[in-house]
Amino acid sequence: MRSDYCGALNASYIDREVTLCGWVDRRRDHGGVIFIDLRDRAGIVQVVFDPDAQDKFELADKVRGEYVLQVTGKVRARDAATVNPNMATGEIEVYGTDLEILNEAETIPFPLSEHSSVGEDVRLKYRYIDLRRAEMQKSLQFRSKVTIAIRNYLDENGFLDIETPILTRATPEGARDYLVPSRTHENKFFALPQSPQLFKQLLMVSGFDRYYQIAKCFRDEDLRADRQPEFTQIDIETSFMDEEGIMGITEGMVKQLFNNLLEVDLGEFPRMDYATAMAKYGSDKPDLRIPLELVDVKDLMDEVEFKVFSGPAKDPKGRVTALKVPGGNDKLTRKQIDDYTKFVGIYGAKGLAYIKVNDVSDVEEGLQSPIVKFLPNNVRQAILERLDAQNGDLIFFGADKASVVSEALGALRCKLGEDLNLYTREWAPLWVVDFPMFEEGDDGSMQALHHPFTAPSCSPAELKSNPATALSRAYDMVLNGTELGGGSVRIHDQTMQQTVFEILGISSEEQREKFGFLLDALKYGAPPHGGLAFGLDRLIMLMTGASSIRDVIAFPKTQSAACVMTDAPGAVDAAQLRELHIRLRQKEQKELKEKSE
Ligand code: ASP
Repeated sequence: MRSDYCGALNASYIDREVTLCGWVDRRRDHGGVIFIDLRDRAGIVQVVFDPDAQDKFELADKVRGEYVLQVTGKVRARDAATVNPNMATGEIEVYGTDLEILNEAETIPFPLSEHSSVGEDVRLKYRYIDLRRAEMQKSLQFRSKVTIAIRNYLDENGFLDIETPILTRATPEGARDYLVPSRTHENKFFALPQSPQLFKQLLMVSGFDRYYQIAKCFRDEDLRADRQPEFTQIDIETSFMDEEGIMGITEGMVKQLFNNLLEVDLGEFPRMDYATAMAKYGSDKPDLRIPLELVDVKDLMDEVEFKVFSGPAKDPKGRVTALKVPGGNDKLTRKQIDDYTKFVGIYGAKGLAYIKVNDVSDVEEGLQSPIVKFLPNNVRQAILERLDAQNGDLIFFGADKASVVSEALGALRCKLGEDLNLYTREWAPLWVVDFPMFEEGDDGSMQALHHPFTAPSCSPAELKSNPATALSRAYDMVLNGTELGGGSVRIHDQTMQQTVFEILGISSEEQREKFGFLLDALKYGAPPHGGLAFGLDRLIMLMTGASSIRDVIAFPKTQSAACVMTDAPGAVDAAQLRELHIRLRQKEQKELKEKSE
């Protein structure tokens, strides 16, 4: 039906006859000549119909926005005066000689050029129209290029693409499961995989050695910023490779992607241990484009009168830290500081103390702050020295439980970086390593920081005696403050796996019931193995500069985990529920009520 894509035409096509198929982006009538901007996935070209071809001209006159057309015509150069340098095809136009309307279209719910003036819910409801926009076309076409490049790289490196089940058992990655009731097994449920973690480990036990999959994962999480309940991972697992090997091969993949698709050289990725990342940046995914660093001042504060500081300073689980904004006095208004106080509140901080440094040489009078009166001169002096403060600097403070301070001031650091445009470079990749094995809850219970299948850096006996301080063999790849991927060397020894389960408070019966198949597999010749998974949506978002992962997913869910286009999740009829052995509570109540009325 067509010879070429609209958007692919250029001056090299002049005098060639082409047949194009596409949508009417715009139609203009210019005194007896009709211009149609015809659009397809490659772009837009201008087609001209004049009254010389009378019947086609009349047909062209009937054409409206978003009609689907087939056009034949000759490519010709535009007059110098009408060349459009803003258009990829702006040097040429197509002189139409034949036209067929393949389909008409009603007025679309929002003009493509005005997408930003309609709410995202409207764009998502009519996603198939929203996706006609050049930006969306580009982002999904780019996504396809990325997955092809990834497949090629992994294939060249000997990885096998193997699918794993979607209907499965719970795969613990720390989120809630999506459950699917079984019709054939009454009262039993499948869980959708939170990741292919255990299956890929079992594939290593089977000897496949290098596995990958571009895999859908499902996590029913509370809806925090920019997450999707179903998302895509580039999932990787290898045997007989240690962390160096795995990090090397996957770093190579990301570097090659950036090189080939964006012409960006990411250079060698530096490594940072978790403890340093938390201490300096308050985050395990530090954005190294921002030069600001947290500086702890806990040791200076335990004797001060100000309880807000001395309390956390004396608490072993507390943290008191400072964040200096060079030249911040002039850059930040009172109103902005108030806004930042609200901002850190989102992360649980009860306030945001600050000191404006007017004159470093005068700790009596040269500091301006509601809290400075609570700090003795020697403490003021020590703070200024430790932070290497200069006149005009502004110093923020965080004091609370360590987790709250790190999260709040870590986020403030990123916000300041963005608001004041402090970025020193465009791309800042790194590996974060030496994570703790476990996170300790307030009740003393332990939770796996990565997942329970991650190998510790010590023996089972050492792990048992000191779980809170044990480190794991996990690693995260971070880019511009976003976790691109994470993984670990796995436990391949049954005793070690049982030890970890025990520390996590999983009883032997529960271990058998939930992970019996894994424990069995570890008995039958499991090789040393490890891997990692990248978040594909996030990777594409960073590479395209999109502001939300929804913009790089064809049919994303809304913030409330629904699809407004298909209206999913939806109600099901009674017969279907009966087959699944399910009775709805609400419905039951309603029926009872109706009966009693
Ligand atoms: N399954 C892990 C995750 O989804 C990744 C890995 O350890 O390979 O985060």
